[in-house]
Amino acid sequence: MELRLENITKKYRTITALDDFSYTFNEGICGVLGPNGAGKSTLMNIITDGIKPDEGHVFFEGDDIIKMGRRYRFHVGYMPQQQSVFSGMTVKHFMFYMASLKGMRGLDAGKSIADLLERVNLTGRADTPMGQLSGGMKQRSLIAQALLGDPDILVLDEPTAGLDPKERVHVRTIIKELSNTKIVIISTHIVADIENIADDIIFMNHGKIILKKDPGHDNTEDLESTYMRLFEDEEQ
Ligand code: ADP
Ligand code: MG
Repeated sequence: MELRLENITKKYRTITALDDFSYTFNEGICGVLGPNGAGKSTLMNIITDGIKPDEGHVFFEGDDIIKMGRRYRFHVGYMPQQQSVFSGMTVKHFMFYMASLKGMRGLDAGKSIADLLERVNLTGRADTPMGQLSGGMKQRSLIAQALLGDPDILVLDEPTAGLDPKERVHVRTIIKELSNTKIVIISTHIVADIENIADDIIFMNHGKIILKKDPGHDNTEDLESTYMRLFEDEEQ
């Protein structure tokens, strides 16, 4: 599978959030590392077709996603960084609601939801209101909804933000167990989140890729040191 971004530029008034960004994602986990304001969330939004670029194109399996339209969305699972609040909804209702948005209904949805809650270890919390979940449980329920419909492309924007170390490990383990036949894109500013699980890593800042790393083959410098070297002057 191939998700190709070609010369993507996205501006907000005077700020260039993505600056002629090109990259091809394939199956496996790609970590997108960069400080706050680097353009990670904008990138995730473009990939999930939530916002349109000012310039450039995204191709999935060679087809322009603008031409694919709604058909493209069914290939994508998304865990956004800014989570809307569903605090009054139970975990199960939240999952059914998200499933309905993906066009899944009835028994089919029920079976997938049960499987996914099992997978993220939330079966016992199905009837708990979202607002009463711990940070880690909430993030895990958000990962579960992103997995509804078994998408080919999974986009997780800062999936461990705000979690304690134990919860971070739990979320990382779930991500690691995802099928390696998916294109998984994870953004983070925490090196440890993707260390040991990413097949490819891109470092970005000011809307551009500043370094690509293949952690399996390139061990000349550990990730933390690379991150420090590239971003030591940045605010975290
Ligand atoms: P990251 O996720 O890496 O922190 P973002 O993609 O959120 O980066 O932001 C990139 C740049 O674009 C930042 O300078 C940010 O302030 C700006 N930006 C992001 N979203 C908006 C928006 N909706 N309106 C105006 N500026 C934005
Ligand atoms: Mg962000």
